[in-house]
Amino acid sequence: MDKMEKIVSLCKRRGFVYPGSEIYGGLANTYDYGPLGVELKNNIKNLWWKFFVQDREDMVGLDGGILMNSKIWEASGHLKEFKDPLIECKDCHHRFRPDKVKDQSKCESCGSKNLTDEKLFLGMFKTFLGPVEKDADVTYLRPETAQAIFVNYKNILNSTNKKIPFGIAQIGKAFRNEITTGNFIFRTLEFEQMEIEYFISPKAKWEKVFKEWQELMHNYAEMVGIDKKHLHDIDIDEKDRAHYSKKTIDFEYEFPFGQDELWGLAYRTDFDLATHEKNSGQDLKYFDEETKDKYIPHVIEPSLGVDRTFLAVLSEAYDEEKVKDETRVVLRLKPAVAPYKVAVFPLLKNKDKLVKKAREVFDMLKQDFTVFWDDRGNIGKRYRYQDEIGTPFCVTVDFKTLEDDDSVTVRDRDTMKQKRVKIGELKNYLAEKLY
Ligand code: ATP
Repeated sequence: MDKMEKIVSLCKRRGFVYPGSEIYGGLANTYDYGPLGVELKNNIKNLWWKFFVQDREDMVGLDGGILMNSKIWEASGHLKEFKDPLIECKDCHHRFRPDKVKDQSKCESCGSKNLTDEKLFLGMFKTFLGPVEKDADVTYLRPETAQAIFVNYKNILNSTNKKIPFGIAQIGKAFRNEITTGNFIFRTLEFEQMEIEYFISPKAKWEKVFKEWQELMHNYAEMVGIDKKHLHDIDIDEKDRAHYSKKTIDFEYEFPFGQDELWGLAYRTDFDLATHEKNSGQDLKYFDEETKDKYIPHVIEPSLGVDRTFLAVLSEAYDEEKVKDETRVVLRLKPAVAPYKVAVFPLLKNKDKLVKKAREVFDMLKQDFTVFWDDRGNIGKRYRYQDEIGTPFCVTVDFKTLEDDDSVTVRDRDTMKQKRVKIGELKNYLAEKLY
């Protein structure tokens, strides 16, 4: 098994990610996040929100709708530009992107040379408002979260004390009818984005602001445990940039299947607000009370995929090592993203006094940390399980705890070293190591 297969297998075995709709034969390129996956994903999102929104005075949040007026997609250019060129095989009807295959002259699925010419294929999911499927009632599932920010920009300006420069952040689902899929959760039809539109004056030195955001994105990578030596900032050529962008950097990560885009950072100019002003007929200009300037702000957009971050975090953390004659699988997750920070075990589950004491420790720790309770099997098996799900510390209540000094065994995931710590000092001991 290669590393990617091992990660996919661990994700299913331990409850991070399951294939979507599995009992009905699945639904290609859809996935469900299980009990551990949802914790890891929430940690990734919460760290982002804290770092980019709550810790900053110049940022506010938004949670916009997935369904929006389809005029938004006309104005933003998505209806016109959000299309991929596709070739269809006339024999097996398989569709593929010519730019993603080695040989465009034959079907990548059945090998037939009986192909159509290239056609443009809309990347947005279409749906209808109301019970009757009428063209007038067509709308789309959003392919990016950004547009909800642009159409609410004036509302936010009018309802908060924000002055330019300031930014609006949003975390939410986006949907793309992707043709080239695969590589697990790297490219899916439904995914989550963490996006920011940072509004600046057209006279501001955008290059400087752009650089600052580039650095902040690197800081965030470090916070979630992505090593900078696996992250590469690629300056995208004009011909490959999105229609709205004057500068784009793709942050490419060395995934187990190869180097590919993890996140993007784009200078979107005033493209979006200008087009929404034109198409909606609403004044979206900003009035600067100090300089008396009136203008449409420009934006810098850091755009991060939650699912790709999740995969990068797992790829970074996955490790195997030989311990005696066994292979130990360990997720060396940063404590900040680990689903559980501590696991608590009674040494034996059929000894009431041990269980009672361990429960007391569990109840005490759960006030401050996410704690896993386990009394199954033997202690060795419990350690292996916690290693596989990335829990940084295991705490065992044993006979010594009851007999003499009220101390427990604390075992470190990475070094496997064990230490006796007094229950009264346990919270501080763990907090110091975890944060
Ligand atoms: P790609 O070139 O890989 O298709 P993109 O350049 O179209 O990606 P953006 O439009 O910049 O992607 O979207 C911002 C972020 O959203 C990406 O950097 C990525 O993290 C995430 N993302 C985009 N498409 C998908 C997808 N189909 N599945 C999972 N995440 C995605």
